[in-house]
Formats: sequence, C-alpha cells, structure tokens
Amino acid sequence: MKVVLIDMDGVLVDSTDTWLAEYRAISGDSLYPNQLKTYNFDQYAKHPKLVWKALSSGNVFRKSWPCRDAISGFQHFCDLFDVYVVTYVHESVPDGAQAKTEWLAHHCPDFPSQDIIFTKHKHMVRGDYLIGENTTNLDKWLEAHPNGKGFLIDQPYNKNWSHIRCKRVNTVLDALMIAQEDL
Ligand SMILES: [Mg+2]
Repeated sequence: MKVVLIDMDGVLVDSTDTWLAEYRAISGDSLYPNQLKTYNFDQYAKHPKLVWKALSSGNVFRKSWPCRDAISGFQHFCDLFDVYVVTYVHESVPDGAQAKTEWLAHHCPDFPSQDIIFTKHKHMVRGDYLIGENTTNLDKWLEAHPNGKGFLIDQPYNKNWSHIRCKRVNTVLDALMIAQEDL
C-alpha cells in the first residue's frame, strides 16, 4: 500500500486563523491570514514578539477548526492508503503534541495516535506522497525522495512556488481525487 504523509497546520487544521485571532486580541494589530505573503508571519506584524506569545498562551490548536474538506479527504486517504500524520510542534508551545493528538482524536477518532510522527524534519520520513503547505518542507522532502510526489495546499503565503513533482490543490479532498488515479 502506498504511504501518504499528511501535515497538520494549514492542511488539516486551520490554525493560522485561530493563531492570528489570538494575536489580534492581545496586540490590537489588525493582521489577517490573507496579508501573509511568506511563512515568516512575524515579519508582517506590528508586534512580532506577540505573534509567538499568541501561539503559546492561547491554546490555539484546541480552538482551531478543520480546513475546508480536510476531514473527509483525510478519511478517504486512510481508506485507500497507508497514512501517517507528520507534524511539528513549535518550541513555544509546551503542550503542543498533546493538543495535536487530542485534536486529531476528536476529529478523526478512527486514526491511531501512534501513527502521528512529530518532527521538524519531514524529509527524514519516507513516503510516496507528502501533502503540505510549507514550501521549504516540500522542497527538502522532494529532494530527499526522488520518486516521491507532493501536494501543496494553496495558502496566501505560498503563492510563488512550484515544483515539477508537486501539484497545487485547494483541499486535501482535491489531493485525494488526483492521488487515487495513481492507485
Ligand atoms: Mg503545515
């Protein structure tokens, strides 16, 4: 069975929306996700330190909603492929791994928590596909896995990137539609 690696933030979970809402509440700054042009969110903020404080203080992850069509797409992937969730917990979020495990258990109760791989180094994890929204991670993973294919979930901050082995899609469900043709 083909192995599919699926990122959480910006792919399954709309954590950016919750994170910036928390930032706006503590900073008074009016920064919204569509203003982010790169992955360095703090560079668009009037109070960069508060961006990181917002992430650590507010239980951002537990309050976040799924991305559009992410859960149905994820469940179809689990039916057809060998799926691992590959995700990173930022140092500023002490209970982030616990929060992410609980979030997934709540939204995808059939998914085994031992199939979540916590790492910053996604390129170290073998698979046939990586679904992510972080272009740095996709670049490194596609280089490390010359036969691997990527799906980039379209986000305001990843517009200016492409790769010959990666398809840009709007949702995890859209990625599923394409990946299942490869079965
Ligand atoms: Mg991500």
